[in-house]
Amino acid sequence: MKNKPPFIAGNWKMHMTAIEARALVTAIVKASLGLQEAEVVVAPPFTALSEVRKVLEGSSVQLAAQNLFWEEKGAYTGEVSGPMLKDVGCQYVIIGHSERRQYFRETDIDVNKKIKAALKFGLFPIVCIGESLEERERGETMAKVSRQVDGSLEEIDADSFRHIIIAYEPIWAIGTGKTATPAQAEEVHGFIREKLAQKYGNDLADCAIMLYGGSVKPANSYALLSEKNIDGFLVGGASLEAEPFIQISKEAIKAYKEKK
Ligand code: PEP
Repeated sequence: MKNKPPFIAGNWKMHMTAIEARALVTAIVKASLGLQEAEVVVAPPFTALSEVRKVLEGSSVQLAAQNLFWEEKGAYTGEVSGPMLKDVGCQYVIIGHSERRQYFRETDIDVNKKIKAALKFGLFPIVCIGESLEERERGETMAKVSRQVDGSLEEIDADSFRHIIIAYEPIWAIGTGKTATPAQAEEVHGFIREKLAQKYGNDLADCAIMLYGGSVKPANSYALLSEKNIDGFLVGGASLEAEPFIQISKEAIKAYKEKK
């Protein structure tokens, strides 16, 4: 298994005015000088992207959007396209977050179209998958993530797959304070990586960056990242303040170095 520098992305969801976002990202950039061994990414709401980009200039922290629409432009009121995200300085885009699947009825077909659009316009997709509590209790976790991987990655060839990051986020752990145990997370990560190996071969699957998301905090990040198949985190609540987000990144770096 290839050990990669930890990838830590903060999903700010529908939080932060432009002024608040500037203050938060300024603190993160300042601390990022001590986090060179991690890839740190922030995902502000659309309305703060441009303000955050100004602060990120010259820093190693990168910018993500939380969603995109698959068309390039046109009469799609309220939507934002890949070229628009590139224009505002995004390198990454989160796709298929469980909140979008739940509240906006996004399907694997939509997710697949969005991934293709992101790749077409030069953005790295961070693709979210994960099971609900009911699905876990019924023993359907692997079937669910398997279906999501197949549906999301339909017609995506190996060359394109290199640019995709997978985030396993059990829905029951998102925003609930209930983190998956390292063993639970690792079991699913291992399963997904195996599935990716069947689709794209061992080398590409080994190199794929796979994030865990769901109530990641400073206190649980070291143990989670110590697991073989966990390469980083998608962090919600704990990314809304600089201190815990930076602490998570430090814990991840520590675990990464010990995994080497
Ligand atoms: C998320 O929004 O992707 C997430 C994992 O949220 P939280 O860390 O708050 O559970």
